[in-house]
Amino acid sequence: MNIAIVGAGLMGRLLALSLLRNEKLRQKQSHNLTITLFDKDNKLAHNSAAYAAAGLLTPLGESLHCEPNIVSMGFESLRLWPALLDSLDEYTFFQQTGAIMVGHEQDKGDYQRVVRHLGNNYPEHTLHPLNRAELLALEPEIGRSFNQGLYLPQEGQLDNRRLLVALRKQLEKEAQEPVTGNSLNWLSDCLVTDIDVAEHSTNISYQQNNINHSQQFDLVIDCRGTGATTKRSNSTCAPMTDLRAVRGEIFQLFAPDVNITRPIRLMHPRYQLYIAPKQQGFYVVGATEIESDDDSAMTVRSAMELLSAAYSVHPGFAEANIRQHVSQCRPAFSDNQPKISVQDALIQVNGLFRHGFLIAPVVLEQTLAVIANRINNTAVALPYTDLLPIVFDGNYTCNINQPSRNLPESSYEHSY
Ligand SMILES: Cc1cc2nc3c(=O)[nH]c(=O)nc-3n(C[C@H](O)[C@H](O)[C@H](O)COP(=O)(O)OP(=O)(O)OC[C@H]3O[C@@H](n4cnc5c(N)ncnc54)[C@H](O)[C@@H]3O)c2cc1C
Repeated sequence: MNIAIVGAGLMGRLLALSLLRNEKLRQKQSHNLTITLFDKDNKLAHNSAAYAAAGLLTPLGESLHCEPNIVSMGFESLRLWPALLDSLDEYTFFQQTGAIMVGHEQDKGDYQRVVRHLGNNYPEHTLHPLNRAELLALEPEIGRSFNQGLYLPQEGQLDNRRLLVALRKQLEKEAQEPVTGNSLNWLSDCLVTDIDVAEHSTNISYQQNNINHSQQFDLVIDCRGTGATTKRSNSTCAPMTDLRAVRGEIFQLFAPDVNITRPIRLMHPRYQLYIAPKQQGFYVVGATEIESDDDSAMTVRSAMELLSAAYSVHPGFAEANIRQHVSQCRPAFSDNQPKISVQDALIQVNGLFRHGFLIAPVVLEQTLAVIANRINNTAVALPYTDLLPIVFDGNYTCNINQPSRNLPESSYEHSY
């Protein structure tokens, strides 16, 4: 079976590795997979949203601005990440030692609103309101600037850039020394220009070194992120009409004299600001969220807001070196929900918005189950339909609130 994956960012790399390893496919031996992974960028992926991200895995921290299914996917993914990372030869920093929310005296109202929101909507999760002494004990250098904080012990983080590198190396290694009968060909610097879907195969046209090529695949998995919006994609390249790009900006600072060990979120009436420690004196300060399909360099306004927020959390950031400022767009649908859409021999996985790393393992498992049904011609119930329903030919199989266990098998049968 000939499978193409378009986009080697976060989802494309995870899917390519799982397919290469045959994970969750339950396929018969006769179905060896020939996988082709396309990306318009080189293998460093510096122009992907995955590279720009902060790598926060903080479901409760996000909960004020997203729906409960995202929070649930976040907690489930926190459970799944360690095994996924353990399966890679290269170490990727991951920790689940909690995150702290803090607010300045003038933003006390916002802080109390968050505490009420979490208590009312997520009573099953532990919250520890901290006074100044407790804050000092947990995160000594933050305790100097704030009288109170909220400790969320289940939150986590990972090093997104190390993960991209680890996945690249693993893909290269396992492509050279395959443990299954499957094979992988990674075509980087290769822009996909057309995706022509038919019932049993999909044709891809692409440009490499200014030469046009065309190839037919039994199945195409489209993971182009913002590359699939109508603005960035040809009308003949399966654009996703409801998809938009949302600008985000971050700083990478080197501050060896600052010692913060876990993600810090600053309550603010207008922004969702955070500081993510990245080991060895590096910190990511982010992120703006601007409704604009624009990844030009950071604006002065955003720079002033992000840096003054960092300085207000820890005055030691005044002496930090600015190592990098990054602007990139997040892929989002109008409801800010991720989607797995299936149309004949094309599966599109997109709209991970600001939660790509937070929910990736669940999106991966659900997509692999859809692919397995396709390859094996089965209608096995999907693992996360209650959290992440599938869109078949423009129609949801079920409502987000309806658990998959209540779904009749026939819900899947019309497609497979
Ligand atoms: C500033 C910022 C901060 C973020 N912080 C966090 C965070 O802390 N936690 C979190 O969970 N999420 C965060 N995110 C969100 C996360 O990065 C995204 O949700 C995630 O990367 C989306 O994954 P993806 O694979 O869909 O897209 P991407 O990672 O963007 O990958 C898409 C790939 O497709 C390729 N491509 C596009 N078009 C084509 C084409 N025509 N032909 C060939 N290749 C193509 C691109 O080159 C790219 O490599 C953040 C995002 C931003 C921008």
